[in-house]
Order: sequence, then structure tokens, then C-alpha cells
Amino acid sequence: MTDASNSSSGSTNAGLFARGQAVMPGGVNSPVRSFRSVGGTPYFVERALGPHVWDVEGRQYIDYVMSYGPGILGHAAPPVIEAIRSAALAGTTFGAPTEREVLMAEELIARVDGLEMIRLVSSGTEAAMSALRLARGATGRDKVIKFAGNYHGHADALLAAGGSGVASQGLSGCDGVPDGSVADTVVAPYNVVPEIDETVAVVAVEPVAANMGLVPPAPGFLEGLRAACDAAGAMLLFDEVITGFRLAHGGATEWYGVTPDVWCFGKVIGGGLPVGAYGASREIMGHVAPLGGVYQAGTLSGNPLATAAGLATLAELTPDVYATLEATAARLADGMAVAFAEAGVAAVVPRVGPLVGVFFTDAAPTNFDEADAAAGNGAYTTFFHEMLRQGVALAPGPYEALFPSLAHTDAIIDQTLDAVAVAAQTIATRHP
Ligand SMILES: *Cc1c(COP(=O)(O)O)cnc(C)c1O
Repeated sequence: MTDASNSSSGSTNAGLFARGQAVMPGGVNSPVRSFRSVGGTPYFVERALGPHVWDVEGRQYIDYVMSYGPGILGHAAPPVIEAIRSAALAGTTFGAPTEREVLMAEELIARVDGLEMIRLVSSGTEAAMSALRLARGATGRDKVIKFAGNYHGHADALLAAGGSGVASQGLSGCDGVPDGSVADTVVAPYNVVPEIDETVAVVAVEPVAANMGLVPPAPGFLEGLRAACDAAGAMLLFDEVITGFRLAHGGATEWYGVTPDVWCFGKVIGGGLPVGAYGASREIMGHVAPLGGVYQAGTLSGNPLATAAGLATLAELTPDVYATLEATAARLADGMAVAFAEAGVAAVVPRVGPLVGVFFTDAAPTNFDEADAAAGNGAYTTFFHEMLRQGVALAPGPYEALFPSLAHTDAIIDQTLDAVAVAAQTIATRHP
């Protein structure tokens, strides 16, 4: 897989990592990328196309990181690149509204039952932070319930016991977050409907937990949350930053038939550019400035390039492609399960629609404690490095999902599964 002649920069991964570490914490701009939890040197990406990324040394990888979700069409999808190119020629930011923002809001609302108004922001973190402020402003209550191992970005109030990067860094909380910031945050175990009383403004949940590995909602969990929130007059917030327009044409709301009060979106809707969104009914969104007293703003919100990329991506995501995406994910998940079983490796490969996870344990985790215990045995680290060595890039940490895209053809999946079979033998030897 090595072809150094493809590299134009002459840089090496190790060289860039050393230089990067001198000038950026961990050499990266988002902690998981540092390889801290798996060890070794991160590959520095030079370019990507379809299901592949190439590092600065010219090595090619089949990519399952896919930027943790935005790359649903595959890398550098021609319609997205063309949309960005033509948008850029007309200017990159104005500080005035544009037609594509209206189109984007209309597109999202058309797909999701109960969603009537949208505010575009620039990241999932910003979406969740703003949705929380909205829920508190609209209910006049302070308390928020979130679930251990669910990740809603890095806003102070939502960072308590987060999943993903927070989990893989082994941080129980976060330095710099004052106790006061999380004083109104209650962290409950996933998949159990918590007690919700009249002081609760909002219950925030990942409808499919995808930041502690992949943990599906137990049957009745989301319905139970809906009923308990209704009984207490609390709002239910679906953080669909990963599930939105990936799980189904209408996201988790359609997939599970449960309608929250407030939604967060991100990742897929930006087509690879920095975008987030939050939304709700017209009545609830009436609390957002300038209509109401919940202030929230952004210099780059509704950015012309981001809306171009997002609209081009959503245009490709017609109802029929979801069956293709799910078939791809099923081929991958089923094939992985078979390879591990044949090698005698204890592993589960949970899948919800197109979302896939892997745990090296006997029983699929249902909450963060179980996911954490499964992640701690070191088998994922072996799997990760054995796959990387064979030219397959998985997330460099055990708490992330795999993100097969529409560019991952059957041939690419089969190539991946060949590598999984080899890696499974190594895992069987090293983690008997
Ligand atoms: C990625 C993610 C976020 C944060 O989005 P950023 O764009 O990284 O700020 C929030 N919620 C969920 C469920 C996510 O997966």
C-alpha cells in the first residue's frame, strides 16, 4: 500500500507530529486525533477521495473515520466539491441572509416530523449549547438531565461524564469547568428512564448512543423518555448530530417514531464544512432572538460555503440511498462478526441501520459502565493497529463508531473484511 511517489510534500507523519506537538496541544486540534488512547504516530492526511484517505507519506487507507460522520457520500464527492467551488466564487461570507439558508431550513424541516423552524450555527457543540439555552429559556427551568456516555459537544453544562473524546482521554470530568456550571446537570445511566420532576427543563439524549462505541436504545427507552417528559412538562432534546439524515431520511425521529421537542443536527448537514443546527416547533423557536429573549448569534452562521456543501449532500440523500447505506453497513458488521467468531475472538458488532460499532466482549453493552469495561481490555488497540498496518483506518479510540459511506462499495467492504480476518488472528493470540 506504500507508494511514496504519490507524496508531494516530502513531509513524514513522524516529522509533522513532532513539529505539531511543539505548537499545538498533542499536535492536534481535537484530542482523539492524537492517538493517545491507541499509541503511535497519527497519519497526517494529504488528500482523500471516495472511501480512501492518503497520508503525507503516500500510504493509502480505506477510511472508516470519515470525519466521524460528515463524509456520508465519501470523501470529495463531486457534487459537493462543485457546489463549494461555485459558492466560493460568489463570496465566502456576507453577514446578511442568503437564499441557501432558506433552502437549507426548508430541506431539514421537510424531512423531520414536528420540526418547524431551524437556526443554523457552526458546530454540533454550538447547536447543543444553544438548544440547552433555548430549552431553559422556554421552560423557565434550570435542570438538565443527560446520560452517561452520551456526548453533546463540549459546552460546560453538557460535558459532565461525556462520551467519545472525554471518555477516551480517561477524564472523569473536565478541568476548568466550575462546579457551578454543572450544578444543574444530572447524569443518568443510558437506557433507563430517569425520574423527571417539575424542575427539569430538558432531557438530552443521543437517540442512538454513538460516542461510547455504538449502543442502541433499549426497546421502549425513547418512548419512555417522551412520556416522562410530557408528564413533567420537561422538554425532550434529541441530539441527532450523528443520527440526523444518516440513520434514515428523517433521522432518528423517523427511525424510532418518537418526536422530541428540540433537535440538534451537525456533521452530515454540513457536507464536510463546519455546520450545526438546532430546531423545534415554531412556538418553541419563537423564544430565540430576535423573536424572543434567548440570545444566540454567529458571524459565520449560515455560511455560504457550508450551506452549499450541506444542500449538495442532502440532495444526494434521497430515501432510496438509505437502503444502500444500510446494506453496506450490514455487509461490514456481519462480516466482522463472522471473522471474529471464526478466530475465536469474543466480540460483538452492534449495528443500527448504517451505524456500526465494535466491542471486544461477550455481550453488547447497554450503558456507559458496560461500554467502558469492554473498552478497557486493550483488544481494540490491537485491532486498530493491525487494521492500520493493513491499510484500513478506524477511529483511534474504542469509543467511536465506524462510518461506512456511500462510497464504500462491496469490493471495499470485502477488502476490509480480509484485513479483519488477519487482525482477528492477532487479537486471538494476544488477548486469549
Ligand atoms: C460530534 C457530536 C457533537 C459535537 O459536534 P461538533 O461539531 O464536534 O462540535 C454533538 N453531539 C453528538 C451526538 C456528536 O456526535
